[in-house]
Amino acid sequence: MAILQPEPASTPVTGGRLPPISLSTNCPSCGIALDPEELAEEVYVCECGHHFRMHADAWLALLPDPTSWQERWADVRPHDLLEWRLPKPYQETIDQAREEGLNEAVRTGTCTLGGRPIWLAVFDFRFVGGTLSIVAGERLARGMEQAASSRLPYLLVAASGGARMQEGVLALMQMAKVNAAVGRLHDAGVPFFSILTDPTFGGTSASLALLADVNIAEPGAAIGFTGARVIKQATYADLPAGFQSAEFQLEHGQVDMVVPRNELRPLLAHLLELYS
Ligand SMILES: [Zn+2]
Repeated sequence: MAILQPEPASTPVTGGRLPPISLSTNCPSCGIALDPEELAEEVYVCECGHHFRMHADAWLALLPDPTSWQERWADVRPHDLLEWRLPKPYQETIDQAREEGLNEAVRTGTCTLGGRPIWLAVFDFRFVGGTLSIVAGERLARGMEQAASSRLPYLLVAASGGARMQEGVLALMQMAKVNAAVGRLHDAGVPFFSILTDPTFGGTSASLALLADVNIAEPGAAIGFTGARVIKQATYADLPAGFQSAEFQLEHGQVDMVVPRNELRPLLAHLLELYS
């Protein structure tokens, strides 16, 4: 793995200052009292190593070079095509999220990282649990098609509960659609890197998130298909401890590396150079 060691201090740990995220008052792993400003400086990683979940705005401050992010297709918006009513009307969920400044579970666009132009897609868990939807699938697939035709590397940051229940089979179809788009990246010889963050589950882990050339997980991230209770009910098996952790997935060959957040950007800059 020596070849993957980034050159020391060649790429800053963050592209910019990270915005606030809502935090508990104490770290759930070590119990220490948290200072939000101090934690932002440490890219929301506690001194014990606990990685706090970051929303899309924080990832977009962390990864791209300053002022390089250009968002695309933010005007492609979700609609309640199935008139879904449970547990509450889907349109109400969409409207409420819109009032909070969120318009979908995936944001996509172009930026530079370490000076190299890339396509970047970031899931936002705040929007209906980062679920894969018609609009999320459309934004992901369009970005991949553009990346393939312009021969620019594609970087994904996944945080998702799976396919969006409120869009039924139309959401499930997005798995096939984005996988076909991943195929176009491969056909074009364009590198695809995926960062799996806590949590990455369901239709997202079962489609594009684990199909990259390099699948990178954050320490302690929960990664799997469905919850432990459901698997136990279906298989009657005793499940190994921590079987849905990033570390377990690394040991069993599902991800290629587990990388602390403050090493991600230098590593990605190095990978971009290696694959260019
Ligand atoms: Zn801690």
